[in-house]
Amino acid sequence: MSMKPTKKIRIPSHRHCPVCGNSMPIDAEFCSDECRDKYLQKVKRDRRMRLFFFLFYAILMAVLFFFFVWRPS
Ligand SMILES: [Zn+2]
Repeated sequence: MSMKPTKKIRIPSHRHCPVCGNSMPIDAEFCSDECRDKYLQKVKRDRRMRLFFFLFYAILMAVLFFFFVWRPS
């Protein structure tokens, strides 16, 4: 019967890839070029979605504004 001591491996300071969650060096932004591409695509898509939403909101506000200002008497 052997006692297995639970070894506590001290993990050197590291970060996790924001795309896939793999650990990576602290000075790296992504673990691989593939993840960087994925991240950039996501950012681009998010930005486009935000712009689209903002435009939609602005148009809606403009429509509402003109609806109330130019009320037919
Ligand atoms: Zn990754």
